[in-house]
Amino acid sequence: MKGISKGGKYRVLGTTDIPNCDCCGKTNLTRAVGLQTEDGQVLNVGVVCASKLLRQNYMGQTYKTSADAILSMGKRVMRENTAIYLTAA
Ligand SMILES: [Zn+2]
Repeated sequence: MKGISKGGKYRVLGTTDIPNCDCCGKTNLTRAVGLQTEDGQVLNVGVVCASKLLRQNYMGQTYKTSADAILSMGKRVMRENTAIYLTAA
């Protein structure tokens, strides 16, 4: 099943130009990120949806994030080839 499920961990794959959100079904996205689920599925999710549903992990805690923060994480993983994981609240 596609979408974001509570408690799941998602790896940020980078920003995308795909206008469809796998989360809410919107088809006019201008800013989206690719996310990989723990079982290897790839989702394309708008940054607004992602910021509402996902939390940042830091030192064993999770924190709220923003659409801009999601976007910069997407850019960062592409630029630095690093791994960033988000948790669904
Ligand atoms: Zn959405």
